[in-house]
Amino acid sequence: MYCPFCSATDTKVIDSRLVADGHQIRRRRECSECHERFTTFETAELVMPRIIKRDGSREPFNEDKMRSGLQRALEKRPVSIEKIELSVNKVKSQLRATGERELDSEMLGNLIMEQLKELDKVAYIRFASVYRSFEDIKEFGEEIARLGDEK
Ligand SMILES: [Zn+2]
Repeated sequence: MYCPFCSATDTKVIDSRLVADGHQIRRRRECSECHERFTTFETAELVMPRIIKRDGSREPFNEDKMRSGLQRALEKRPVSIEKIELSVNKVKSQLRATGERELDSEMLGNLIMEQLKELDKVAYIRFASVYRSFEDIKEFGEEIARLGDEK
């Protein structure tokens, strides 16, 4: 790529490393002309499946929405931002790995719940109670009982 400082066409990579849990490559480059240094980030461009909502309508997968859902569930819980980001990336990988173009919102919800279950049990219960809207209260009660058993 051209040097952003002097537009010279020749820049060389002086360092590259994996960041964001291996989902991104960060490269330090140096211009061969003016010797200014700059950073580029490289990520795979993959298409995420669309989400089929309960009413049958479709919407694009929204990473920010998922992140804020996780953060809401983890409010005032001892879980770091880095751990939340790791979970966000895991769910995204799992969505891509399905190879599907459209997925039920229920499946997305289950993937998020799996992540929360590992991160923080309290947040998991919070999310599950909102997400499932107590539709299947019996199953939910059994889930809480199971969590108790695991201790
Ligand atoms: Zn330059």
